[in-house]
Amino acid sequence: MAMAGSGVFGDLLEGEVYKYYSDGEWRKSSSGKSVAIINPTTRKPQYKVQACTQEEVNKVIDASKVAQKAWAKTPLWKRAELLHRAAVLLKEHKAPIAECLVKEIAKPAKDAVTEVVRSGDLVSYCAEEGVRILGAGKFLVSDSFPGNDRNKLCLASKVPLGVILAIPPFNYPVNLAVSKIAPALIAGNSIVLKPPTQGAVAALHMVHCFHLAGFPKGLISCVTGKGSEIGDFLTMHPGVNCISFTGGDTGIAISKKAGMIPLQMELGGKDACLILEDADIDLAAANVVKGGFSYSGQRCTAVKVVLVMESVADALVEKVNSKVAKMTVGPPEDNCDITPVVTESSANFIEGLVMDAKQKGAKFCQEYRREGNLIWPLLLDHVRADMRLAWEEPFGPVLPVIRITTVEEGIHHCNASNFGLQGCVFTKDINKAMMISDAMETGTVQINSAPARGPDHFPFQGLRDSGIGSQGITNSIEMMTKVKSTVINLPTPSFTMG
Ligand code: NAP
Repeated sequence: MAMAGSGVFGDLLEGEVYKYYSDGEWRKSSSGKSVAIINPTTRKPQYKVQACTQEEVNKVIDASKVAQKAWAKTPLWKRAELLHRAAVLLKEHKAPIAECLVKEIAKPAKDAVTEVVRSGDLVSYCAEEGVRILGAGKFLVSDSFPGNDRNKLCLASKVPLGVILAIPPFNYPVNLAVSKIAPALIAGNSIVLKPPTQGAVAALHMVHCFHLAGFPKGLISCVTGKGSEIGDFLTMHPGVNCISFTGGDTGIAISKKAGMIPLQMELGGKDACLILEDADIDLAAANVVKGGFSYSGQRCTAVKVVLVMESVADALVEKVNSKVAKMTVGPPEDNCDITPVVTESSANFIEGLVMDAKQKGAKFCQEYRREGNLIWPLLLDHVRADMRLAWEEPFGPVLPVIRITTVEEGIHHCNASNFGLQGCVFTKDINKAMMISDAMETGTVQINSAPARGPDHFPFQGLRDSGIGSQGITNSIEMMTKVKSTVINLPTPSFTMG
């Protein structure tokens, strides 16, 4: 079986360092510098990528501009055909890409494969959806607006924005890259990808599948380097016409610095799981565990706080604890449920939240245990509003439970959060569920299931500090286009036929 950096992926690697992708070729940076990617499990350097320079970014953006002009004129069906080809290649090469995800971000092996396959499906779906959405426009006639005759005919269609800068986060470096790349390309834009450092090598392999599919030179580029070093230069670059970013607070800073260009920002979350007295407690417990601990809690839509009615709290906590006791903890290669968190600094941050809760009197349902970046799953009961864990996202396998006595209290907690990504409610009363959904100020509310991004064609968006704009295949295609109108002015309203 092909391994990362070998076989068809052999071009990506020179010596020990992975190359970056510019103007249709894999290149070494003139900086002579590289960035090491630390394997979260071994805590040793696993891969190295190029530290690209500002000059290289300038060249990439220049080439991207030129390529976009020709691409916008390429027939839509041809654009779709290339995307379908890339989707097939992604799935064909799922093993080496998944291997990188295991080594760079400690994603359990099976989930790593799922991420790549899901990404291939997303690319195909996007190509199909794009053909439909972009293949039709609007035709308007002036006489519907007061004072107008029937002499102005407006043809409105969707045209590309230009060069799109895509910056995904570490937790889905392939899926959250293609969720930007595919809509951008089908809509006639070019793309400059800056992958997260942890996940960069998986992203480079994914980009190579687009290269193998035969996209024109310069249309897709991928520059690597630390976000803290080249991030500002990229996001403030005058050649960038739109930024699609997924990540944490960095997105808020980017929004303040970016120019007058459309922004798609999918940021953090503190998704609440509201459990009412009439809930199916087995179902709720299963979802709390899956929602809270999948990929060790490193998901934007992980359940990050449980708000449970006091009368059913003991039963819920007991059921959750018995499931937590059965979770496997260890390396991603063994498909363990809980794997090491992405970096040592993330593990330290999580530990800080746990210690704050300990000091303020939260009840530990399990003993706190950590070895290197590996943190054992931990449920904290009786968490109160004065604890940091009530409000901050740990992005780790640590889940706070807040006991509530009224539903209003739960909704209030949810709406008082700076975040507003998703929320969920467990109840058998659909009327109550609908009213709670209406009251919860989040981009999505799930009824009787944990929060989740996807299926990938569903709209996905956050309120407040959770972001601006909306994702999901259709929404992203629309967001990466603008409306262009051509108005035909007739000399007279109509012929008088007699
Ligand atoms: P992050 O630290 O914000 O990083 C995200 C991306 O931004 C990375 O590619 C990073 O590159 C880059 N970056 C860093 N500094 C930059 C700068 N000054 N300018 C431009 N780019 C810069 O987030 P993360 O730790 O990777 O991901 C975790 C966060 O993402 C969590 O808050 C999570 O909730 C959120 N998330 C949200 C969604 C959603 O759709 N709402 C989905 C998944 C994750 P480097 O890696 O090189 O620093």
